[in-house]
Amino acid sequence: MLIDSHCHLDRVDLTTHDNDFGCLMRACAASGVSRMLCVGIDLEAYPAMRRLVDPYPEVDVAVGVHPNEAGGEAPSVERLLELAADPRVVAIGETGLDYYRLEDGEASGQHARFRTHIAAARACGKPLIIHTRQARADTIRLLREEGAGAVGGVLHCFTEDWEMARAGLDLGFYVSFSGIITFKSAESLREVARQVPLDRLLIETDSPYLAPVPYRGKPNEPTYLQHVAACIADLRGLDVERLAEVIVDNYSRLFVVDD
Ligand SMILES: [Zn+2]
Ligand SMILES: [Zn+2]
Repeated sequence: MLIDSHCHLDRVDLTTHDNDFGCLMRACAASGVSRMLCVGIDLEAYPAMRRLVDPYPEVDVAVGVHPNEAGGEAPSVERLLELAADPRVVAIGETGLDYYRLEDGEASGQHARFRTHIAAARACGKPLIIHTRQARADTIRLLREEGAGAVGGVLHCFTEDWEMARAGLDLGFYVSFSGIITFKSAESLREVARQVPLDRLLIETDSPYLAPVPYRGKPNEPTYLQHVAACIADLRGLDVERLAEVIVDNYSRLFVVDD
């Protein structure tokens, strides 16, 4: 049984699943994915996403506004707390910093929003889902300044270096690897994945983005998680079943899933 710790189920392409979300959910189960964390990107799409996954108790939810989202409702601590009071919400995010396509003056807005998410996470005691891209030093600095270590969380779709992973681990965070780990060019990332302590490791698809080899470039979905799992298991010298047990333990510890 595999757990996809980060996906956007409301954005997955359903055309190969009879345009039926239930059909996708059955395909996920058949591929061995028994639990998924469906992550919010903005507050406009959130209510429909939450309704979509409601009949599927194997789907946990995170609420937050992605650092690159602009123009929508600005998240306040109060609004995030109101949404996070929902018992299906197990985390706050995705939030963080992304300087890859940074417009002039946008960094300060990203910082303020990131601080808001950390404050909300601390107030409700739920962990953070962190998106970070080309913003290593500022991401770690803000996590430290806002006391994010009190709630912890995960550095999702990790693509940075060991120094960044180490800094996140020191704050009590987990590190999650996506299909990027299977890309031929990702040797330095595979080296990081070899070093992350086993009890801090998570895996994800980030569906519908970043499909693993052999589906690279195609729309991604949680049924492809087995390719990420196989790659990580190989790197760690474990069989996939053992890795899956480790991931279940880690996910349960971080997101306190009681059912
Ligand atoms: Zn992300
Ligand atoms: Zn995401």
